[in-house]
Amino acid sequence: MSEYVFSPSTPPSLPVAGSDARFPIHRIYCIGRNYAEHVREMGREPDRGAPMFFLKPADTIVENGTTIPIPPGTENFHFEIELVAAIGKEGRNIPTESALDLVFGYGVGNDLTRRDLQLAMRDKGWPWEIGKSFEHCAACTAIHPVAEIGHPLENDIWLDQNGTRRQSGNTREMIFNLQEQISYLSELYVLRPGDLLFTGTPAGVGPIAAGDTLVGGVDGVDELTNTFR
Ligand code: MN
Repeated sequence: MSEYVFSPSTPPSLPVAGSDARFPIHRIYCIGRNYAEHVREMGREPDRGAPMFFLKPADTIVENGTTIPIPPGTENFHFEIELVAAIGKEGRNIPTESALDLVFGYGVGNDLTRRDLQLAMRDKGWPWEIGKSFEHCAACTAIHPVAEIGHPLENDIWLDQNGTRRQSGNTREMIFNLQEQISYLSELYVLRPGDLLFTGTPAGVGPIAAGDTLVGGVDGVDELTNTFR
């Protein structure tokens, strides 16, 4: 076998709760505009026409408890607390009725966003990449297996910034529920073990400053704590 010209990067991964094993990350899919009040605060109307997805590179993952640097190029760096589904089986053309069978477990994530750049790209009709995909932009807790916690599809989701509640909602309020998201993605991609799916954020997103502590949770799953510098 040929040598690599330089050493390949360590595969990105997250801890698995209650285990020494780790969850190796393949892709990070994210749905946008998936809670009605958040869609309105972004200046749009809720739409059941088709779900809207974007991706983050796997190596943007950041673990629970870490300090995250404010990224360059933004004056409006935002938090978005989200339920994260971790895919454990390969799947294509999956009906909604069996979509949850693909889920290995769940975590709590923060879809960190350079909001000013995202909206500038949106308003030009350009891709969002520079607003949504950058180093350290996908924070997530350990993955909690379904066998331990079930499917948190009617659970409160919230985020506190320096002790003040900023976001609150319930995962049942998703415009496209998790089964619909998995089914839709599986018609366009081959879902693979190791895929993460950030399932959207409730209303209340806002700016992060250096020195902030964010604590966010999905009740029954976990709490995600990160500080910023
Ligand atoms: Mn999001």
